[in-house]
Amino acid sequence: MNYVVFDLEWNQSPNGKQYSNPQMPFEIIEIGAVRLNDDFEVTDTFHRIIRPTVYHWIHNSIRDLIHVNYRDLKSGVPFTEAVMDFLDWCDYEYIFCTWGNQDVMELQRNMKYYGMLHLLPAPVIYSNVQALFGLQFEGEETCRSLEHATEFLNIDKEMDFHRAINDAMFTAKILSHISFDLIRTHPTLDVYQHPESKKEEIHLNFPLFSKYLSREFVSREKAMKDREVNSTRCPVCGSSARRTVRWFTPNNRIYYSVSRCAEHGSVGGKIRIRKSEDDLYFADKTIYLASEEDISEIKSKREAMKQQKKTSKK
Ligand SMILES: [Zn+2]
Repeated sequence: MNYVVFDLEWNQSPNGKQYSNPQMPFEIIEIGAVRLNDDFEVTDTFHRIIRPTVYHWIHNSIRDLIHVNYRDLKSGVPFTEAVMDFLDWCDYEYIFCTWGNQDVMELQRNMKYYGMLHLLPAPVIYSNVQALFGLQFEGEETCRSLEHATEFLNIDKEMDFHRAINDAMFTAKILSHISFDLIRTHPTLDVYQHPESKKEEIHLNFPLFSKYLSREFVSREKAMKDREVNSTRCPVCGSSARRTVRWFTPNNRIYYSVSRCAEHGSVGGKIRIRKSEDDLYFADKTIYLASEEDISEIKSKREAMKQQKKTSKK
């Protein structure tokens, strides 16, 4: 298995949001990547500057950030060529690794714009190194900056940040400090390409949890009424786990539940209702074996919600 650690730099409408192209709010202008083997050793690097076609001037805030001139971009290659080269270079059997969750999404959105999304079929599963860094060193999925993590791990900072290839290299170095077991058991499922029909719905089993992405519904309520969406099957044996805390939501976006599998104990449920680009709703469900701590956290969320309802009624 290869690890392909990549980083993108993108541009946005130089004249402000009102002139933004809704199909392409962020236009990728640079791809940098590092390929690692099983032992996290760098085996190759990849770098392309991309000639833009949507925004013909670099947004001020971005120019200061990425140190790229518009002149540099003019000598770049077309996006389609850069991505085909990149996917060829990735080889077979690899997993994408990125800092945060935005790069995998923007890559797909740009590929869709150029009609080449079929080259990266769903489900797209990757390692979010930012989340893994949080889990390993802070005990939860935090959202630290790449610079913070680099300093925390005393990684040599002689390269500049915000050049795609350098950021990919920093991310690769951070990844090499994360336990293999954590990487293996905490993959991230990207939701940009979510199912449109029942037939396309995604069910995935990972070592510690299962994932389900539903088709689209006209409302959150319709989604939550669907039997497949609100089912809670044990992530280990797949049998129906009996609900002990019914699905509830403190914020109308994330729903929680607790169930019990006769054989494997407590099962936690989390459904995030997401809005699609065409204003429809789909469910992103995670079912996992829950610890005592997980359960008391869910129960205290429910208590807080009940208290809030009481006070707002008064
Ligand atoms: Zn079970």
